Parts: sequence; C-alpha cells; structure tokens
Amino acid sequence: MPSLFVSHGAPTLAIEDGPAHRFLIECGTRLTKPKSILMISAHFEARTAAVTTGQNPETLYDFGGFPKTLYQITYPAPGDPALAETVVELLGAGGLPVRRDPARGFDHGAWVPLLLMFPLADVPVVQLAMDSTRGPEYHYRLGELLRPLRDQRVLIVASGGATHNLAMFCQANRNDTAPEWVQAFGDWLAEAIENNRRDALIDYRNRAPYAARNHPTEEHYLPLLVALGATDEGEAHLRIHSSHTYGVLRMDAYAFGETDPEKWSRMDD
Ligand code: ZN
Repeated sequence: MPSLFVSHGAPTLAIEDGPAHRFLIECGTRLTKPKSILMISAHFEARTAAVTTGQNPETLYDFGGFPKTLYQITYPAPGDPALAETVVELLGAGGLPVRRDPARGFDHGAWVPLLLMFPLADVPVVQLAMDSTRGPEYHYRLGELLRPLRDQRVLIVASGGATHNLAMFCQANRNDTAPEWVQAFGDWLAEAIENNRRDALIDYRNRAPYAARNHPTEEHYLPLLVALGATDEGEAHLRIHSSHTYGVLRMDAYAFGETDPEKWSRMDD
C-alpha cells in the first residue's frame, strides 16, 4: 500500500461540494481496498504516543459553530484492536512506549476525509496520536517504525493541511484567491516531495518559504512526515491533488510510495 497525506480543511468539507471534496471521493474509488487504515490526524495529540484500541469508536464533533447537519453525521467504521497491538509492538521495538486508549473516538481530521474516501465505513480504523511538541524528526521516525504495516495491506493516512494559518482562515471567504505566500509554500512542498528531498521536508521550518506563516503551529504539517517516513528512499511520491479553499488553505494531497502512478493520472489539476 502507499501511504497518503490528505488536507482536511474545514469540517464542512464533508458536506460542501468543491474540488477537494470531489477528489477525496474519487481517491477512494482508485485505491486498492485496504485491510485496515491507520490514521494520523492533526486533531489527536498526546504527549505519550497513544493508539485507539476500542472496537466501536464513536464519532467526535471536535469543532464549534458549524452547520447542524455536520453534528448528525456518524462514521461507524469499526476499530481494529489487533492492528492497535501491532502498532504498540512496532513502536515499542523502536523504543517508543505507547498508551492504549480504548475510549477515544474518531476526530473530524479522521472521519471527514474517511467519510468521503470510504463512505461504506467498512474498513476498520485505528488512530495513532501525534505530538507537535516533539517536532519533525519524531514524526518521521514514527513513520519509519510503521513501514512494515504497508506490507500487511494497512493504508497509512496522514490528515493535516498543506498550509494551515487558522487566524487568516477565520477572516477569509471560501472563494478567496490564494495569496502569494500560500502558493509559494504549497509549490515548494510539492517540489520537495516529488523530488524526495527528505532532509528539506524535515527541516522545512528553515528551508521552505513562509513556513511559519503557513504553519504558525505545526500540527497540520507534521502528519505528512509520518506518511513520508513510512516509505523508502527510492520510492516514488506523487501529488495527487492540488486546490485551495478560503484563500489560505491549500488542500493538496500526496501519495507516498505509489508503485502505480497511472492510477492517479488526470487527478492533479
Ligand atoms: Zn484540522
């Protein structure tokens, strides 16, 4: 399986038509159906690595002030306690203790894209927490330790945002054009990923244009490094979607370690 990075934008992505909404629906139809999904979302953070171990995780509405219909959506995918145990073992073997969290449900960074990609909710999902206090190397290392899962038909999905300036988003309208500083970072990211410049992606804060402006906090960028770390140096990485919303949110998506680029042809605008 490849590992994926998707941008989830605002929770309304679940119900509002647009390029990224349509992309995620199409993306789900092009993927080989995985046995399970390991999700790393910007909205599940823990200071000790944590995995969801519940059999039937609930749908979390971890946002406020959005249309009522969003709060009526449920994503009833089952959990996968066996996969969670494998994650505990893999990270434990790498020296990272992991806490089992049986009560934790699916946050919107997880269920919004999954609702579009796998609407039947018939693929089991486990969430692994990230920790923005530990920075890029830690998240890349998480990905490295999770590599063996790809051979077990587990799809690793990292969900964040290619750009994510929340303060600017709050002042923006949905159809605003993207400012130059957003385009510059988004384009740098695409170039660095497609050319597999791992050192630059890890050191993005110093090397990318307007890095801190696009990611005032790092939690929407760091999941990308988990997806990257889960692939080998020689594997091919593709941008499989690019669009923007609310001016400052680039909705780009990437497939890391994709062996069948033809599968994604005509998906990038
Ligand atoms: Zn988010």
